[in-house]
Amino acid sequence: MIRRKYLFPNVIEMNYQAGRRLGVNVYLIDGGSEFLLIDIGFEDTVDEIIELIRQMDFSLSKCKMIIATHADADHIQGLKRAKDRLKTSVAAHPKSVKPLEKADAIETYAKITAQGIDLPMVPVKIDLRLNEGDTIEVGDVKLDVWHTPGHTPGQLSFKMRDLLFSGDNIYKDSCVGVIDAHHGSHLGDFVKSLSRILGDDSKYLLPSHGPVFPREAQIIQKAIDRLSGYMHMADFGTCATDWPLMEEWEADVIAGRLPFS
Ligand SMILES: [Zn+2]
Repeated sequence: MIRRKYLFPNVIEMNYQAGRRLGVNVYLIDGGSEFLLIDIGFEDTVDEIIELIRQMDFSLSKCKMIIATHADADHIQGLKRAKDRLKTSVAAHPKSVKPLEKADAIETYAKITAQGIDLPMVPVKIDLRLNEGDTIEVGDVKLDVWHTPGHTPGQLSFKMRDLLFSGDNIYKDSCVGVIDAHHGSHLGDFVKSLSRILGDDSKYLLPSHGPVFPREAQIIQKAIDRLSGYMHMADFGTCATDWPLMEEWEADVIAGRLPFS
């Protein structure tokens, strides 16, 4: 038996628990009579995570569900293996279901040909759809489901008391989850999701990567300002809504104005 290292009442995070970096944050919500997991990470860490849960004296059969915060490979590559080993249900937002059930290598961000990245993906049947406004009960604990698209269309967050499990929306250094058209990033939605987090009353954010941190306005505002700028810049290509320089240039071209005249 090993000691449970609770970050907050009812909340264990498996990297902190293992005392080493496993990958994505894997939150165990301990409801007393049962528990659930938020994300599971890569397939090669699944066995270690399950062994840790067993050593913490949780009954593996009491795993109510594993939730995919979204369909990116670093969060869910191990989902099928964990589902089979724990004999539990898996849950995701409806917009994550297709990439997960089809193991779509592009939409799960498992395959980036130009960089030689090609992670094997295993299709997994999603048992439960989680929508905005749903409540998940696990033992004595309740989680409110937030749909927070932007990083990906199916990104979920969860509010539990004064804690917000904020997924890939925002990290402690104001960085955000990767913006890339291939897995469905949308800058306008992203800014809306960040604004919602900014306006919330939660005290702490529990992100999917890196440390847990207090929900400070300046951290979130910095990301909102940056992404609002990206919407009108060429940097993120098809994710941008417009590029004012193109309109300026086109007006010059049509009017016959040359750049140095
Ligand atoms: Zn991620």
